[in-house]
Amino acid sequence: MESNTQSPDIPKWSALLVEAVNKPGLILEAYNAFHRYSVGNQLLALVQCQLRGIQPGPINTFPKWQELGRHVKRGERALTLCMPITRKRRDENADTNDEPSREHTYTSFAHRARWFVISQTEGEELAAMPIPQWDAEQAVANLNIERIDFDSTDGNCQGFARKRQIAINPVAQLPYKTLFHEAAHVTLGHTAEGDFADGETTPRSLREVEAEGVALLCCESLGLEGAAYCRGYIQNWLSQGTGSNADAIPEKSAQKIFRAADQIIRAGRTEPEQSTEAEQ
Ligand SMILES: [Zn+2]
Repeated sequence: MESNTQSPDIPKWSALLVEAVNKPGLILEAYNAFHRYSVGNQLLALVQCQLRGIQPGPINTFPKWQELGRHVKRGERALTLCMPITRKRRDENADTNDEPSREHTYTSFAHRARWFVISQTEGEELAAMPIPQWDAEQAVANLNIERIDFDSTDGNCQGFARKRQIAINPVAQLPYKTLFHEAAHVTLGHTAEGDFADGETTPRSLREVEAEGVALLCCESLGLEGAAYCRGYIQNWLSQGTGSNADAIPEKSAQKIFRAADQIIRAGRTEPEQSTEAEQ
């Protein structure tokens, strides 16, 4: 999600995340209005709407609105979202001389100003878009994560993650929050490096903040209990400072958090997904 051409009024992912941490309700509002888009883009869209006084609602590109029988009003300025761009690259380092150099495609991300909210358009009425249902077991299965029995004897432990397995304490105080947190450790690649048992004694490392950030985005987007706890945890961590990056989560961590939350939410949707921001 990097871009060299980022305009100055587009916040960094870390700034967007800190904004969401400090403003309860922002994530839910963004999800309700823009759930077809990635979690990062949802917040990006909402923040731009708020800055410009635009009523949040369905967003589409100029040609897509035309297809839907609406047109963008004169003088309206497009919203900027981050979109994947497929590029081609020739492989110059082929192993053998026999093979011709092959072409590889790869995806990078760039910010583009191409989207308009429904309130910036006029024309035919649009059918309301229902918010998709979400199922935890389906999410876990689609993420290729196995739920195992909770076998820890540590009374403080809420859950743990090992490789691609997670376990949630049957009497966990916030079971969904713990599920998202443990699934995040797996999705973020933390468990490839070691096991995670999460209790009161867990060190406040960056990995914990990443997992808790994912849990915050998931809990609040889906309206499940636990967002307030996550928020408090991250605010506490931020207020303690982290060396040279005293007031923000590292940009790379923020990107990872948005991506993992997006994967977990999409994996649990029980209704067919409509096209997303890949459309141009
Ligand atoms: Zn943890």
